[in-house]
Amino acid sequence: MSILFDDIVFGPVKSRRLGVSLGINLLPVDSKLCNFDCIYCECGWNGSVSRPRFGRRIEIRRALEIRLKEMNESNGSPDAITFSGNGEPTMHPEFAEIMSDVVELRDAYAPKAKVCVLSNATFVHREKVFEALRKADRAILKLDGGRDETVERMNCPQGDYSVALAVEKLKAFEGNMILQTMFLRGEYRGQKIDNTSDEEVEAWLKAVKEINPKEITIYSIDRDTPAPDLQKVSKEDLEKIADKARALGYKVQVAG
Ligand code: SF4
Repeated sequence: MSILFDDIVFGPVKSRRLGVSLGINLLPVDSKLCNFDCIYCECGWNGSVSRPRFGRRIEIRRALEIRLKEMNESNGSPDAITFSGNGEPTMHPEFAEIMSDVVELRDAYAPKAKVCVLSNATFVHREKVFEALRKADRAILKLDGGRDETVERMNCPQGDYSVALAVEKLKAFEGNMILQTMFLRGEYRGQKIDNTSDEEVEAWLKAVKEINPKEITIYSIDRDTPAPDLQKVSKEDLEKIADKARALGYKVQVAG
């Protein structure tokens, strides 16, 4: 079963990676909206909404302020404020302005909290999106493989997307970003998918070296996926992949 966030601000949820994290969903609350349609997306497949209703900037600001005040009053403060939710946050037309609001509210109510963004990085060519992502303490950006065929099968991107293009966009961060990669095995529409083979991992490592991220997070599926025939990669296998990147000097976290 997929999970849709039915509110603008949700949580806090506790994660090993981000600690106590308050989530912000800029996207419609009744369907997923993304320019990818990853076969493993926890929000399910893209909805068929003709005119998506993005959260309004003023409402997002208000909802976050109320929640941060409440947390302050109960002597709790989040470790992270994370843009995630029902799709790709940088698709919001006012993503940059909302980022400024979030940073301002963080400074006022939860100065120790890290502002994090989970993004597929496809809108980084827009100057405002790029600059906004650079304001985040942790820009956690997706690249699921080093071969076009693999990312095509895993991410089902709309429009132009290739590993070369993605690498160029990620290189623009000059290392100040966290690379996030999903590893899985299985089958979708009669085609085998396995981005854990030696050949696949080699291609991924080549992309990693070009991007040169300050940190890498790798993970596998944890819940039901929209494509039914996918298998979770074991922690042990993920650690083996992580070790290959660690051997190149990268800090790698296996999330699970
Ligand atoms: S990029 Fe993220 S939100 Fe978009 S389909 Fe993939 S997993 Fe879902």
